Amino acid sequence: VAFDESLRCGRVISVHGLKSKVLGEDGRRYECAIRQVLKSLNIEQRNVIVAGDRVRFRADSPSDGMIESIEPRAGVISRTSRNRQHVIAANVDYLLVITSAAQPDLKPALIDRFLLTAEHCGVEPVVVINKMDLVDPVSLQPMVGVLSSMGYRVLMTSAETGVNVPYLKALMTGKQTALAGQSGVGKSSLLNAIEPGLGLAVSEVSLDNDKGRHTTTATTLIPLAVGGAVFDTPGIRQFQLWNIAAGEVSGLMPDLRPYVSACRYPDCLHLNEDACAVKNAVADARIDARRYDSYCHLIEELLVEEGSSR
Ligand code: GDP
Ligand code: ZN
Repeated sequence: VAFDESLRCGRVISVHGLKSKVLGEDGRRYECAIRQVLKSLNIEQRNVIVAGDRVRFRADSPSDGMIESIEPRAGVISRTSRNRQHVIAANVDYLLVITSAAQPDLKPALIDRFLLTAEHCGVEPVVVINKMDLVDPVSLQPMVGVLSSMGYRVLMTSAETGVNVPYLKALMTGKQTALAGQSGVGKSSLLNAIEPGLGLAVSEVSLDNDKGRHTTTATTLIPLAVGGAVFDTPGIRQFQLWNIAAGEVSGLMPDLRPYVSACRYPDCLHLNEDACAVKNAVADARIDARRYDSYCHLIEELLVEEGSSR
């Protein structure tokens, strides 16, 4: 006898093989299988269902079910390795780029990389500068000003004193949020300040310089008591999701983007070319010199990678 024939809505919490854990609207967790028909869809099997997916399922029992359909995804975080796309998280409303003002030192170039990743994935980034109790906020104004003027939201917090933690909590309420940021900046502390007991998996897996031999790092969606959820994605916290070509980078930087069409050469990389509108804009400070410096480093790195993968 069927538990209940009706279709229910749910969110995928985690995927393991051809089974996935689904959080139903009734608050119960169901171990779900995927209908055969879904597997024949023209998407790679590993991406059929990922954490964050909104699904419709039928319950066979109070704890088991069958996924019947997946809602179209928005805000997908993915990475490419060996020309295969791996979707890491689906329906990501925000990518929180978490950094610390000190201990470890603020790394603006790392923020730029994560911003680029967010732009590339089509996910809205929010820059969080934590440990504000350790520095004078005025010292960060120039960098924060540049990021804000590009339209990025920047939030200065302290998990220690609670400054702006309510604001972060309000931002995350009802949203599906992914976290990026190096180890030690206070990701766990911030989550704990938002919801006591909320923890991330301990293991930090660095996938830097990954050339395909990647470590599998399963994504888990952790529901928040206030509504919404956080993606626990050990693999993206430190890893820049490089599947960006050098020529795409300036188009993904809101401060460089307005100038690129005015360069003499359509394939201008804005490094040493003549009549480069980007370099002219840097020369008269319409583009921040530090951001341009970050851009040059990224391009050099990508050109080396592109050269070595040929
Ligand atoms: P994670 O690796 O990013 O999850 O970082 P943790 O949350 O484990 O924090 C690393 C260290 O920084 C811990 O010793 C925390 O107590 C400390 N920490 C976290 N947030 C703050 C903060 O806002 N101010 C200060 N002074 N220390 C903090
Ligand atoms: Zn140029």
